[in-house]
Amino acid sequence: MERRRVSVFGSTGSIGQNTLDLLRRQGGADSYEVVALTGGDNIALLAAQAREMRAEIAVTARDDNLAALRQALDGSDVSAAAGPAALCEAAARPTAWSMSAIGGCAGLEPGLIALQHGGILALANKESLVAGGQLLPEAARGTGATILPVDSEHSAIYQALVGEDIGRLDRMILTASGGPFRDWSLAELHRATPEQALAHPNWDMGRMISVDSASMFNKALEMIEAKEFYGVRSDQIEVVVHPQSVIHSLVGFVDGSMMAHMGTPDMRFAIGYALNWPERLDLPVAPLNLAELGRLDFQPPDETRFPALRLAREVMTRGGLSGAAFNAAKEAAYHAFMARQIGFTAMARIVEDVLERMAQDGDLTAATIDLDNVLAVDKLARLRAGDAIETRKAS
Ligand code: NAD
Ligand code: MG
Repeated sequence: MERRRVSVFGSTGSIGQNTLDLLRRQGGADSYEVVALTGGDNIALLAAQAREMRAEIAVTARDDNLAALRQALDGSDVSAAAGPAALCEAAARPTAWSMSAIGGCAGLEPGLIALQHGGILALANKESLVAGGQLLPEAARGTGATILPVDSEHSAIYQALVGEDIGRLDRMILTASGGPFRDWSLAELHRATPEQALAHPNWDMGRMISVDSASMFNKALEMIEAKEFYGVRSDQIEVVVHPQSVIHSLVGFVDGSMMAHMGTPDMRFAIGYALNWPERLDLPVAPLNLAELGRLDFQPPDETRFPALRLAREVMTRGGLSGAAFNAAKEAAYHAFMARQIGFTAMARIVEDVLERMAQDGDLTAATIDLDNVLAVDKLARLRAGDAIETRKAS
């Protein structure tokens, strides 16, 4: 049997390792012709993955890691490469299925390139929809490629919509665990540390998305992601806090019926669905025992303690390049928080400042949106966030 050609961008991350786990369980290098695996600083893991999967090429995002990667791959048939250009070159290699699991806006360009050769792009990198808006969907339409969502909420919605007419959809309800600070007061949030923000109660994830879950910036990104992916109006997108993370999201139809997707909180349900789509295969996901669980809880999100949700609505209303600015300012604020330069609640204020300033300066509107102006706004928003961070540090 011909092996399916696959690439995993961000293979050393949380989603990437879960993806490799499924590839391994489904036959590994005997079932899949692994084209490219990519990572950042974890060269030992990247090299081990590439050797095991007999990848064509392993790419590290950082040029100064090239020598170490070459050394780690010495004696194998895997080629080594480094840097953003090498990442794009790897993405241009044809595959039937690619996983986009790089963290942040850096995932946008490789994703766009991967769509050029058709096939399936399993999209974990929500930032590329937030920053790039319709760039990925348009590229997919242009080449006949398929984008399958891997974010748990968006996979849940995708599965709930199978066989349905999206025109009969009334609303989408994204569930949010509420993160580690769900019940914290504003005064407590002011003092929250990176360690506390990293300790997610239900999901084991990469660092940035864990902190984004604590601030609810993750849900904010996901609202925009849902709008761009499903083409619904922003007023059709709701958020409900659901601490158990068992209902992964819901859709409501015009007749009042609601469809929910349920399961244990394990990202392999969504990765596996995208990997095996349109089939369903056995997955190593623990079965859900409802009787043992006993109850499911829901509460409305609190936009006073978590202003990220309000900011997401502003971004959706404003449109244009505001998603790119929003995401970039949020990434810059995240790095400043992790470096202990600013407090936890300052992240949202910085994002808001950057959006306001850039809107005033006319930076968020453009006749057309393309990769160049998205990346230019991304860069400018990081600069503006840097200014806002300096001002806060000084005060
Ligand atoms: P992670 O930090 O664990 O892994 C990120 C991966 O991207 C690593 O391989 C890293 O080396 C690589 N990377 C980081 N910066 C890069 C850059 N500038 N250029 C190239 N490669 C770079 O993150 P993760 O939790 O696996 O998340 C990956 C993506 O999936 C994010 O967009 C995240 O929002 C999304 N996602 C993750 C989860 C989850 O459960 N972890 C759930 C839903 C969506
Ligand atoms: Mg999610």
